[in-house]
Amino acid sequence: MRKELTCITCPMGCRLVAESDSSGELAVSGNRCPRGAAYAREELLAPKRTVTATCRAAGAAVDGSGTRRVPCRTVAPFPKERVPELLEAIYGLEVSLPVARGQVLLQDALGLGIDLVATRTLS
Ligand code: SF4
Repeated sequence: MRKELTCITCPMGCRLVAESDSSGELAVSGNRCPRGAAYAREELLAPKRTVTATCRAAGAAVDGSGTRRVPCRTVAPFPKERVPELLEAIYGLEVSLPVARGQVLLQDALGLGIDLVATRTLS
């Protein structure tokens, strides 16, 4: 297996090449520092994403667009294969207002030790 990817860990944006041999060992080249190799390994073996979404607000003042949504995100990258399950949980939430920026809306999401927090204060 040979895969090219761009390291997004810092603004240098190194072009990485990851190749695995028959034993499954992954060799990474093109990285200017060790973080690039770690990034490539994680991206190929256990990819994660910071999840941003909105959830329903209960009792909110209707904003200009007529929607009642609370913007939120995970406090850390979340395993990519579990993101659909997380979004289902987020869309099932109904958050009581007021809510403060940084307030935990869903603690220990899916039991993975990662919280979901509000990214905006709403009253
Ligand atoms: S490999 Fe290192 S220097 Fe290159 S983009 Fe990644 S973190 Fe930055």
